Amino acid sequence: MPFAAWGLPRRLLDGALRGAAVAAGAELRAGVAVQGAEPGPDGWILRLPGGAIAARQVVLATGKQAFRGHPRAGAPPGALGLKLHLAGVDPGGTVTLLPFAGGYAGLQPLPNGAHDGGANLCAALHGEAGAAARDAAAFLARVAEGSALGARLLAGARPAWDRPLAVAGVPYGFRARAGGPPGLFRIGDQAAVIPSFTGEGIALALHSGLAAAAAILAGEEAAAFQARWRRRSAWPMRWAELGAWVLRQAPGAFTGVAAVAPAARWLARGTRVSRC
Ligand SMILES: Cc1cc2nc3c(=O)[nH]c(=O)nc-3n(C[C@H](O)[C@H](O)[C@H](O)COP(=O)(O)OP(=O)(O)OC[C@H]3O[C@@H](n4cnc5c(N)ncnc54)[C@H](O)[C@@H]3O)c2cc1C
Repeated sequence: MPFAAWGLPRRLLDGALRGAAVAAGAELRAGVAVQGAEPGPDGWILRLPGGAIAARQVVLATGKQAFRGHPRAGAPPGALGLKLHLAGVDPGGTVTLLPFAGGYAGLQPLPNGAHDGGANLCAALHGEAGAAARDAAAFLARVAEGSALGARLLAGARPAWDRPLAVAGVPYGFRARAGGPPGLFRIGDQAAVIPSFTGEGIALALHSGLAAAAAILAGEEAAAFQARWRRRSAWPMRWAELGAWVLRQAPGAFTGVAAVAPAARWLARGTRVSRC
């Protein structure tokens, strides 16, 4: 990356965000799944296990999971996301991108204390996942076979679990259309799903959340917000799709070739939503 970036465990990031929301006056109902959202007399009615609540606006932030009744229109076929904690690996102080057949993985250090220091291996897989989705050793082998760097870094890896955690149906490249029902603001992965290798998904989620909050406070219609966010996310998404295409066609392109390093840096900058 042509800049320093943070790799944070979700436990820390989500905890900090929840704390900030509660400190700002939000009422938090943890462990409650919203079962549906339908237009009501004064905005929306949300169905919860214990009853219903009325809301003037709804911010749809259910991420990778589709929300019943509100499908992502035009979403491309979903990829598989995998995650595995490892001991016996020294990823250094960096996030390493490891291409392999059918996908790519990111290897990054875990905070001190977790699995002997250890590392987190996350991957996006397109097409047939085979045993990699069910078996930690098969997943490790598949990533290690993809590059000499992967083989070296993962040589002594000991998986913390028998099988990787998996999330299916991640529609990389999806962008919500402009429009949509009044008072429903799509943010994060419900608005745009950027290829994971960019490490920009969380930034898109945070920026779109802030933009939706500003739009609601300004009394703006959801359709106007959605159209603006679609425009703002267009270039980062295009650059990310281009990068994903290069990764698929020539997996070694981003690693260690001095001639393409400036192009890769340029492309990485283009994927940053904070620049748009
Ligand atoms: C393999 C992989 C690796 C990735 N690596 C990176 C990375 O290194 N850096 C990066 O920035 N991004 C990365 N991303 C992308 C990033 O995870 C997402 O872009 C980001 O989490 C989107 O945030 P979100 O808030 O929209 O959704 P999420 O983070 O998915 O959060 C959605 C939340 O909504 C909750 N929810 C869902 N349905 C309901 C319901 N009905 N009722 C109540 N709650 C509900 C879920 O439980 C969840 O807590 C990666 C993604 C994948 C798949």
